[in-house]
Amino acid sequence: MAKRINLKLVNVARSDTVRSINRQIILNYIREEGPISRADIAKMTDLQRSTVSLIVEELIDTGLINEVYGESSGGRPPQLLSLKTTHAVAIGVELGKKTTSIATADLSGRILEKEQFLTEIDIDKTLNRVIEIIKHFVQKNNGSIEGIGVSVPGMVESWDSDVLIIPHLNWHHPGIAQKIREAIGLPVKIENDANAAALAELWLGRPKVKNARDFILVYITKGIGTGIVFDGEIYRGKNGVAGEFGHMTIGDNAPIACAAGSYRCWEAFASERAAVARYNALTNKTNGTESTNFSEIISLAISGDEKAQIALKETAKYIGIGISNLIQGLSPEMTLVGGKIVQVWDLVKDEIINSAVNSICQGYPSVNIIPSTLGLSPTLKGAFSLILANKFSLVRNA
Ligand SMILES: [Zn+2]
Repeated sequence: MAKRINLKLVNVARSDTVRSINRQIILNYIREEGPISRADIAKMTDLQRSTVSLIVEELIDTGLINEVYGESSGGRPPQLLSLKTTHAVAIGVELGKKTTSIATADLSGRILEKEQFLTEIDIDKTLNRVIEIIKHFVQKNNGSIEGIGVSVPGMVESWDSDVLIIPHLNWHHPGIAQKIREAIGLPVKIENDANAAALAELWLGRPKVKNARDFILVYITKGIGTGIVFDGEIYRGKNGVAGEFGHMTIGDNAPIACAAGSYRCWEAFASERAAVARYNALTNKTNGTESTNFSEIISLAISGDEKAQIALKETAKYIGIGISNLIQGLSPEMTLVGGKIVQVWDLVKDEIINSAVNSICQGYPSVNIIPSTLGLSPTLKGAFSLILANKFSLVRNA
Protein backbone atom coordinates (compact mmCIF):
# COMPACT_ATOMS: atom_id res chain seq x y z
CA MET A 1 0.00 0.00 0.00
CA ALA A 2 1.06 3.54 -0.61
CA LYS A 3 1.83 5.02 2.75
CA ARG A 4 2.04 8.74 3.19
CA ILE A 5 5.42 9.78 4.59
CA ASN A 6 5.24 11.43 8.00
CA LEU A 7 7.57 14.36 7.38
CA LYS A 8 7.55 15.28 11.06
CA LEU A 9 9.07 11.97 12.10
CA VAL A 10 11.19 11.21 9.11
CA ASN A 11 14.73 10.01 9.65
CA VAL A 12 16.71 10.92 6.61
CA ALA A 13 18.39 7.90 5.12
CA ARG A 14 22.12 8.36 4.77
CA SER A 15 23.39 5.45 2.77
CA ASP A 16 23.66 5.43 -1.04
CA THR A 17 21.58 2.29 -1.22
CA VAL A 18 18.64 4.23 0.19
CA ARG A 19 19.10 7.29 -1.98
CA SER A 20 15.70 6.58 -3.48
CA ILE A 21 14.19 7.13 -0.03
CA ASN A 22 15.82 10.56 0.19
CA ARG A 23 14.54 11.27 -3.30
CA GLN A 24 10.97 10.54 -2.17
CA ILE A 25 11.40 12.65 0.96
CA ILE A 26 12.70 15.64 -1.01
CA LEU A 27 9.95 15.24 -3.61
CA ASN A 28 7.37 15.26 -0.81
CA TYR A 29 8.87 18.38 0.78
CA ILE A 30 8.59 20.15 -2.57
CA ARG A 31 5.03 18.88 -3.00
CA GLU A 32 3.91 20.03 0.44
CA GLU A 33 6.07 23.09 1.12
CA GLY A 34 6.90 24.33 -2.37
CA PRO A 35 7.90 26.71 -3.78
CA ILE A 36 10.91 26.02 -1.54
CA SER A 37 14.65 26.64 -1.86
CA ARG A 38 17.39 24.01 -1.90
CA ALA A 39 18.80 25.55 1.28
CA ASP A 40 15.48 25.22 3.11
CA ILE A 41 15.13 21.60 2.04
CA ALA A 42 18.63 20.90 3.36
CA LYS A 43 17.79 22.63 6.63
CA MET A 44 14.51 20.78 7.12
CA THR A 45 15.84 17.35 6.18
CA ASP A 46 19.28 17.75 7.73
CA LEU A 47 20.76 16.49 4.47
CA GLN A 48 23.99 17.82 2.95
CA ARG A 49 23.44 20.72 0.54
CA SER A 50 25.34 18.76 -2.14
CA THR A 51 23.10 15.71 -1.70
CA VAL A 52 20.00 17.87 -2.01
CA SER A 53 21.34 19.55 -5.15
CA LEU A 54 22.16 16.22 -6.77
CA ILE A 55 18.69 14.80 -6.12
CA VAL A 56 17.02 18.05 -7.19
CA GLU A 57 18.85 17.95 -10.55
CA GLU A 58 17.63 14.41 -11.03
CA LEU A 59 14.02 15.41 -10.23
CA ILE A 60 14.25 18.32 -12.69
CA ASP A 61 15.63 15.97 -15.37
CA THR A 62 12.76 13.53 -14.93
CA GLY A 63 10.26 16.35 -15.30
CA LEU A 64 8.71 16.06 -11.84
CA ILE A 65 9.73 19.51 -10.59
CA ASN A 66 10.86 22.80 -12.04
CA GLU A 67 12.56 25.97 -10.94
CA VAL A 68 10.56 29.12 -10.35
CA TYR A 69 11.72 32.54 -9.22
CA GLY A 70 10.69 33.70 -5.77
CA GLU A 71 10.22 37.30 -4.70
CA SER A 72 13.37 39.33 -4.61
CA SER A 73 14.31 41.12 -1.41
CA GLY A 74 16.64 43.49 -3.20
CA GLY A 75 19.18 41.40 -5.08
CA ARG A 76 18.76 38.52 -7.45
CA PRO A 77 15.37 36.76 -6.97
CA PRO A 78 15.83 33.38 -5.22
CA GLN A 79 15.47 30.19 -7.24
CA LEU A 80 12.78 28.00 -5.75
CA LEU A 81 11.57 24.52 -6.53
CA SER A 82 8.02 23.58 -7.24
CA LEU A 83 6.09 20.62 -8.63
CA LYS A 84 5.74 20.72 -12.39
CA THR A 85 2.02 21.19 -12.90
CA THR A 86 1.72 22.11 -16.54
CA HIS A 87 0.59 18.79 -17.91
CA ALA A 88 -1.78 15.94 -17.11
CA VAL A 89 -0.16 12.90 -15.47
CA ALA A 90 -3.15 10.91 -14.28
CA ILE A 91 -6.67 10.04 -15.30
CA GLY A 92 -9.34 9.50 -12.66
CA VAL A 93 -12.55 7.56 -13.24
CA GLU A 94 -15.34 7.93 -10.70
CA LEU A 95 -17.82 5.20 -11.46
CA GLY A 96 -20.91 6.35 -9.60
CA LYS A 97 -24.25 4.66 -9.03
CA LYS A 98 -25.85 7.39 -11.12
CA THR A 99 -23.14 9.34 -12.93
CA THR A 100 -19.68 8.40 -14.15
CA SER A 101 -17.03 11.14 -14.29
CA ILE A 102 -13.64 10.97 -15.97
CA ALA A 103 -10.99 13.65 -15.55
CA THR A 104 -7.33 14.38 -16.09
CA ALA A 105 -5.18 15.84 -13.32
CA ASP A 106 -1.71 17.29 -12.93
CA LEU A 107 0.89 16.28 -10.33
CA SER A 108 -0.70 18.48 -7.67
CA GLY A 109 -4.10 16.81 -8.12
CA ARG A 110 -5.69 19.74 -9.94
CA ILE A 111 -8.45 18.72 -12.36
CA LEU A 112 -7.59 19.85 -15.90
CA GLU A 113 -10.39 18.40 -18.01
CA LYS A 114 -13.54 16.47 -17.19
CA GLU A 115 -16.30 14.50 -18.92
CA GLN A 116 -19.45 12.98 -17.47
CA PHE A 117 -22.23 10.62 -18.50
CA LEU A 118 -25.06 8.70 -16.88
CA THR A 119 -23.99 5.28 -15.63
CA GLU A 120 -25.88 2.50 -17.42
CA ILE A 121 -26.80 -0.67 -15.63
CA ASP A 122 -25.39 -2.54 -18.66
CA ILE A 123 -21.72 -3.11 -17.73
CA ASP A 124 -20.44 -3.26 -21.32
CA LYS A 125 -22.15 -0.03 -22.38
CA THR A 126 -20.74 1.83 -19.37
CA LEU A 127 -17.23 0.37 -19.70
CA ASN A 128 -17.04 0.99 -23.44
CA ARG A 129 -17.90 4.62 -22.88
CA VAL A 130 -15.29 4.89 -20.09
CA ILE A 131 -12.61 3.34 -22.33
CA GLU A 132 -13.52 5.62 -25.24
CA ILE A 133 -13.12 8.76 -23.10
CA ILE A 134 -9.86 7.52 -21.55
CA LYS A 135 -8.45 6.82 -25.04
CA HIS A 136 -9.36 10.34 -26.09
CA PHE A 137 -7.61 11.86 -23.05
CA VAL A 138 -4.53 9.66 -23.45
CA GLN A 139 -4.11 10.60 -27.13
CA LYS A 140 -4.71 14.26 -26.46
CA ASN A 141 -1.95 14.36 -23.83
CA ASN A 142 0.82 12.83 -26.00
CA GLY A 143 2.16 10.21 -23.65
CA SER A 144 2.18 12.25 -20.43
CA ILE A 145 -0.52 10.12 -18.73
CA GLU A 146 1.15 7.63 -16.40
CA GLY A 147 -1.81 5.73 -15.09
CA ILE A 148 -5.53 5.51 -14.49
CA GLY A 149 -7.19 5.44 -11.07
CA VAL A 150 -10.76 4.15 -10.71
CA SER A 151 -13.14 4.54 -7.78
CA VAL A 152 -16.22 2.32 -7.52
CA PRO A 153 -19.14 2.09 -5.09
CA GLY A 154 -18.32 -1.48 -4.19
CA MET A 155 -15.89 -3.91 -2.64
CA VAL A 156 -12.35 -4.01 -4.00
CA GLU A 157 -9.69 -6.52 -2.97
CA SER A 158 -6.61 -4.37 -3.63
CA TRP A 159 -5.48 -1.50 -5.86
CA ASP A 160 -4.08 -3.96 -8.37
CA SER A 161 -6.81 -6.53 -8.34
CA ASP A 162 -10.42 -5.95 -9.19
CA VAL A 163 -13.95 -5.35 -8.00
CA LEU A 164 -15.72 -8.12 -6.11
CA ILE A 165 -19.19 -6.62 -6.19
CA ILE A 166 -21.03 -3.32 -6.78
CA PRO A 167 -24.26 -3.96 -4.85
CA HIS A 168 -26.32 -0.99 -6.10
CA LEU A 169 -25.65 -1.86 -9.76
CA ASN A 170 -25.78 -5.59 -9.08
CA TRP A 171 -22.43 -6.13 -10.81
CA HIS A 172 -20.50 -9.21 -9.66
CA HIS A 173 -16.80 -9.51 -10.59
CA PRO A 174 -17.21 -7.00 -13.46
CA GLY A 175 -13.45 -7.04 -14.29
CA ILE A 176 -13.33 -3.24 -14.64
CA ALA A 177 -9.60 -2.66 -14.01
CA GLN A 178 -8.63 -5.60 -16.18
CA LYS A 179 -10.74 -4.45 -19.14
CA ILE A 180 -9.41 -0.88 -18.98
CA ARG A 181 -5.83 -2.15 -18.62
CA GLU A 182 -6.20 -4.36 -21.69
CA ALA A 183 -7.79 -1.61 -23.80
CA ILE A 184 -5.42 1.20 -22.84
CA GLY A 185 -2.12 -0.48 -21.93
CA LEU A 186 -1.40 1.75 -18.93
CA PRO A 187 -1.31 0.88 -15.21
CA VAL A 188 -4.80 0.87 -13.67
CA LYS A 189 -5.42 1.13 -9.91
CA ILE A 190 -8.85 0.60 -8.43
CA GLU A 191 -10.38 1.40 -5.02
CA ASN A 192 -13.66 1.54 -3.15
CA ASP A 193 -15.26 5.03 -3.25
CA ALA A 194 -15.10 5.80 0.48
CA ASN A 195 -11.48 4.67 0.63
CA ALA A 196 -10.71 6.76 -2.47
CA ALA A 197 -12.29 9.82 -0.84
CA ALA A 198 -10.23 9.23 2.32
CA LEU A 199 -7.13 8.88 0.16
CA ALA A 200 -7.92 12.22 -1.50
CA GLU A 201 -8.21 13.85 1.93
CA LEU A 202 -4.88 12.29 2.90
CA TRP A 203 -3.04 13.48 -0.23
CA LEU A 204 -4.94 16.57 -1.36
CA GLY A 205 -6.90 17.72 1.69
CA ARG A 206 -6.43 20.71 3.96
CA PRO A 207 -3.20 20.62 6.04
CA LYS A 208 -5.31 20.02 9.16
CA VAL A 209 -6.61 16.79 7.64
CA LYS A 210 -3.60 15.53 5.75
CA ASN A 211 -1.34 16.02 8.77
CA ALA A 212 -3.61 13.82 10.87
CA ARG A 213 -2.31 10.26 10.99
CA ASP A 214 -5.66 8.71 11.96
CA PHE A 215 -9.01 9.82 10.65
CA ILE A 216 -12.25 8.41 9.30
CA LEU A 217 -14.18 9.63 6.29
CA VAL A 218 -17.89 8.85 6.36
CA TYR A 219 -19.16 8.98 2.79
CA ILE A 220 -22.92 9.44 2.59
CA THR A 221 -24.55 8.49 -0.71
CA LYS A 222 -27.36 6.02 -1.43
CA GLY A 223 -25.43 3.88 1.00
CA ILE A 224 -22.85 4.74 3.65
CA GLY A 225 -19.18 3.92 3.22
CA THR A 226 -16.31 4.61 5.59
CA GLY A 227 -12.68 5.12 4.65
CA ILE A 228 -10.37 4.56 7.60
CA VAL A 229 -6.93 6.13 7.62
CA PHE A 230 -4.66 4.54 10.17
CA ASP A 231 -1.09 5.84 10.57
CA GLY A 232 -1.14 7.66 7.24
CA GLU A 233 -2.44 4.71 5.28
CA ILE A 234 -5.86 3.36 4.25
CA TYR A 235 -6.80 0.50 6.52
CA ARG A 236 -8.15 -2.27 4.29
CA GLY A 237 -8.44 -5.39 6.40
CA LYS A 238 -8.54 -8.89 4.97
CA ASN A 239 -9.47 -8.98 1.27
CA GLY A 240 -9.62 -5.18 1.30
CA VAL A 241 -13.19 -4.99 2.49
CA ALA A 242 -12.77 -3.27 5.89
CA GLY A 243 -14.87 -0.20 6.59
CA GLU A 244 -18.33 -1.64 5.95
CA PHE A 245 -19.73 0.25 8.91
CA GLY A 246 -22.75 1.15 6.79
CA HIS A 247 -24.21 -2.17 7.90
CA MET A 248 -23.66 -1.84 11.65
CA THR A 249 -26.87 -2.14 13.63
CA ILE A 250 -28.24 1.20 14.83
CA GLY A 251 -31.83 0.37 15.78
CA ASP A 252 -35.09 -1.10 14.51
CA ASN A 253 -37.66 0.00 11.94
CA ALA A 254 -35.53 2.24 9.76
CA PRO A 255 -37.41 4.26 7.09
CA ILE A 256 -35.91 2.13 4.27
CA ALA A 257 -34.06 -1.15 3.86
CA CYS A 258 -30.29 -1.26 3.35
CA ALA A 259 -28.83 -2.69 0.11
CA ALA A 260 -28.99 -6.13 1.75
CA GLY A 261 -32.62 -5.77 2.86
CA SER A 262 -32.21 -5.00 6.57
CA TYR A 263 -34.14 -2.27 8.39
CA ARG A 264 -31.60 -2.11 11.22
CA CYS A 265 -28.42 -0.86 9.52
CA TRP A 266 -26.82 2.59 9.73
CA GLU A 267 -27.35 2.96 5.96
CA ALA A 268 -31.08 2.34 6.40
CA PHE A 269 -31.24 5.19 8.96
CA ALA A 270 -28.73 7.73 7.68
CA SER A 271 -28.15 7.46 3.91
CA GLU A 272 -29.53 9.75 1.19
CA ARG A 273 -32.26 7.16 0.65
CA ALA A 274 -33.26 7.37 4.30
CA ALA A 275 -33.61 11.17 4.03
CA VAL A 276 -35.70 10.79 0.87
CA ALA A 277 -37.98 8.26 2.60
CA ARG A 278 -38.47 10.63 5.55
CA TYR A 279 -39.28 13.53 3.25
CA ASN A 280 -41.71 11.40 1.24
CA ALA A 281 -43.44 10.30 4.45
CA LEU A 282 -43.73 13.90 5.65
CA THR A 283 -45.24 15.01 2.33
CA ASN A 284 -47.26 11.80 1.74
CA LYS A 285 -45.32 11.06 -1.45
CA THR A 286 -44.33 7.58 -2.50
CA ASN A 287 -41.83 6.00 -4.91
CA GLY A 288 -39.22 8.73 -4.96
CA THR A 289 -36.35 8.28 -7.39
CA GLU A 290 -33.64 8.37 -4.78
CA SER A 291 -30.61 10.42 -5.71
CA THR A 292 -32.31 13.05 -7.86
CA ASN A 293 -34.75 13.54 -5.07
CA PHE A 294 -32.02 13.87 -2.51
CA SER A 295 -30.58 16.79 -4.50
CA GLU A 296 -34.07 18.28 -4.67
CA ILE A 297 -34.49 17.94 -0.91
CA ILE A 298 -31.17 19.75 -0.46
CA SER A 299 -32.38 22.59 -2.71
CA LEU A 300 -35.73 22.73 -0.93
CA ALA A 301 -34.02 22.87 2.47
CA ILE A 302 -31.75 25.68 1.30
CA SER A 303 -34.77 27.64 0.08
CA GLY A 304 -36.39 27.26 3.52
CA ASP A 305 -38.76 24.30 3.06
CA GLU A 306 -39.51 23.11 6.57
CA LYS A 307 -40.27 19.48 5.74
CA ALA A 308 -37.05 19.10 3.77
CA GLN A 309 -35.15 20.57 6.71
CA ILE A 310 -36.82 18.18 9.17
CA ALA A 311 -36.02 15.17 6.97
CA LEU A 312 -32.36 16.20 6.71
CA LYS A 313 -32.02 16.98 10.42
CA GLU A 314 -33.58 13.67 11.42
CA THR A 315 -31.15 11.89 9.06
CA ALA A 316 -28.27 13.93 10.51
CA LYS A 317 -29.16 12.67 13.98
CA TYR A 318 -28.55 9.10 12.82
CA ILE A 319 -25.35 10.07 11.03
CA GLY A 320 -24.17 11.32 14.44
CA ILE A 321 -25.24 8.15 16.26
CA GLY A 322 -23.27 6.00 13.81
CA ILE A 323 -20.22 8.26 14.11
CA SER A 324 -20.35 7.94 17.92
CA ASN A 325 -19.84 4.20 17.51
CA LEU A 326 -16.85 4.76 15.24
CA ILE A 327 -15.33 7.26 17.67
CA GLN A 328 -15.78 4.91 20.63
CA GLY A 329 -14.31 2.01 18.73
CA LEU A 330 -11.46 3.65 16.83
CA SER A 331 -10.73 7.00 18.55
CA PRO A 332 -9.71 8.89 15.39
CA GLU A 333 -8.16 12.37 15.51
CA MET A 334 -11.08 13.55 13.42
CA THR A 335 -14.10 12.30 11.51
CA LEU A 336 -14.92 13.82 8.13
CA VAL A 337 -18.33 13.72 6.52
CA GLY A 338 -18.46 13.67 2.71
CA GLY A 339 -21.24 13.57 0.13
CA LYS A 340 -24.02 15.94 -0.98
CA ILE A 341 -25.15 16.45 2.63
CA VAL A 342 -22.09 18.69 3.06
CA GLN A 343 -23.92 21.34 0.98
CA VAL A 344 -26.23 21.93 3.95
CA TRP A 345 -23.56 21.53 6.63
CA ASP A 346 -24.74 24.61 8.56
CA LEU A 347 -28.22 23.12 8.79
CA VAL A 348 -27.16 19.63 9.91
CA LYS A 349 -23.90 20.06 11.78
CA ASP A 350 -25.38 20.68 15.26
CA GLU A 351 -27.62 17.65 14.88
CA ILE A 352 -24.70 15.44 13.82
CA ILE A 353 -22.31 16.67 16.50
CA ASN A 354 -24.82 16.79 19.37
CA SER A 355 -26.18 13.35 18.69
CA ALA A 356 -22.63 11.97 18.44
CA VAL A 357 -21.67 13.61 21.75
CA ASN A 358 -24.86 12.43 23.47
CA SER A 359 -24.45 8.85 22.22
CA ILE A 360 -20.94 8.47 23.60
CA CYS A 361 -21.01 6.76 26.99
CA GLN A 362 -17.71 7.71 28.54
CA GLY A 363 -17.27 11.35 27.60
CA TYR A 364 -14.44 11.21 25.09
CA PRO A 365 -12.81 14.63 24.85
CA SER A 366 -12.32 14.60 21.10
CA VAL A 367 -15.51 14.53 19.11
CA ASN A 368 -14.02 16.29 16.12
CA ILE A 369 -16.46 16.06 13.21
CA ILE A 370 -15.87 18.25 10.16
CA PRO A 371 -17.12 18.36 6.56
CA SER A 372 -14.98 17.17 3.67
CA THR A 373 -13.85 20.16 1.62
CA LEU A 374 -12.96 18.30 -1.55
CA GLY A 375 -16.16 19.38 -3.24
CA LEU A 376 -18.95 17.25 -4.59
CA SER A 377 -16.71 14.56 -5.99
CA PRO A 378 -14.08 13.67 -3.41
CA THR A 379 -14.09 10.20 -4.96
CA LEU A 380 -12.98 11.56 -8.35
CA LYS A 381 -10.03 13.23 -6.65
CA GLY A 382 -9.50 9.95 -4.83
CA ALA A 383 -9.35 8.13 -8.15
CA PHE A 384 -6.33 10.05 -9.40
CA SER A 385 -4.87 10.13 -5.90
CA LEU A 386 -4.34 6.40 -6.47
CA ILE A 387 -1.82 7.26 -9.18
CA LEU A 388 -0.31 10.25 -7.36
CA ALA A 389 0.01 8.36 -4.06
CA ASN A 390 1.92 5.67 -5.86
CA LYS A 391 4.29 8.30 -7.17
CA PHE A 392 4.86 10.16 -3.92
CA SER A 393 4.76 7.44 -1.31
CA LEU A 394 7.75 5.70 0.10
CA VAL A 395 6.36 2.19 0.12
CA ARG A 396 5.41 1.40 -3.42
CA ASN A 397 2.14 -0.30 -4.03
CA ALA A 398 3.33 -3.79 -4.92
ZN1 LIG B 1 -27.34 -3.62 5.95
